[in-house]
Amino acid sequence: MNLNTIRERFEAREEELSPFAVRSTRSRGRKLPEPPSPVRTEFQRDRDRIIHTNSFRRLKHKSQVFVAPLGDHYVTRLTHVIEVQQIGRTIARALNLNEDLVEAASLGHDLGHTPFGHIGESVLNRLLPGGFHHSRHSVRIVELLEGEGRGLNLTEEVVEAIRHHSKPQGEFLNEGAVSHLTLEAQVVRLSDALAYLTHDIGDAIRSGFLKPSSLPPEVAETLGTDHGRRVNTLVCDVVQASWDCSGEVPVRGGKPWVRMSDPVGRVTTTLRNFMFENFYLPISEGREGRRAADIVELLFHHYLRHPEGMPQKFTDMAGSKEQAAADWVCGMTDNFALMRAEEIQPGISEGVFHGHI
Ligand code: MG
Repeated sequence: MNLNTIRERFEAREEELSPFAVRSTRSRGRKLPEPPSPVRTEFQRDRDRIIHTNSFRRLKHKSQVFVAPLGDHYVTRLTHVIEVQQIGRTIARALNLNEDLVEAASLGHDLGHTPFGHIGESVLNRLLPGGFHHSRHSVRIVELLEGEGRGLNLTEEVVEAIRHHSKPQGEFLNEGAVSHLTLEAQVVRLSDALAYLTHDIGDAIRSGFLKPSSLPPEVAETLGTDHGRRVNTLVCDVVQASWDCSGEVPVRGGKPWVRMSDPVGRVTTTLRNFMFENFYLPISEGREGRRAADIVELLFHHYLRHPEGMPQKFTDMAGSKEQAAADWVCGMTDNFALMRAEEIQPGISEGVFHGHI
């Protein structure tokens, strides 16, 4: 048989998607054109390229909120991206959008996270001339650092969805911020927030940092009293409020976009602000958070002075010593960063991570 008929069958099925969905056959393409895979669409192929990278494997030892958590049930960056992927696929499939594109971009969106999550990110942002942001760095990884400096040569649509997944603090459900993006990129952007808000409630309570009763009362009233109910409420609300994206009903306003209903969106924004003030910021400013920040700063300065201590390819790939040090340090897992920092300056972590590695 001609294997190519398998891919062609998948591509033919995509013709049944919403008129607003992205179709792999009409992708804006890759920087370097490649012959198609016989058995996978372009977006399925991008998903596989992302999963087979070292950057993806290292997500299992990178913090989501807690630094190198000891308990087996805490969320890590890897379980986070799997949750984003599944929430995103559920929404995309329900709205008849391109599930493969959502899957690929979800799995790749956080590749650029530093060790210790946003704590490491803000340190590198302060130290690196030109600043540092994890979504920009995710793009740098897939466009350059993976594949020994060749990048993964992903489709433009997957790169775009990775680049634009991040949301500002405060009011983030805003049509103007997403109207230039594909609906699939919008699904990834929103699914990221739905995933972290719901699983971080679990971690905050598991750790004793927050009590269920300290959450704003409208969270339980509107979203539900446990993890499963909250995820279900949020996902169903997005599907309902964004139904015109499916092409099954006339579009409300000029252009369909992926959104939440006003009541659920308001509670979600309240919850997000609450989590920033009562969980993310206090964790960053606590003793472990401060030690983690010191470790990233030490590592950055150390490799700036001693580029011979990191693999030569980082110097070869970067345009500057600072960028090379940032690329190398950013790729580290929490555990690797702790070990390296303790070798360079014994005692820097003041024992606060004792037993964590
Ligand atoms: Mg994320």
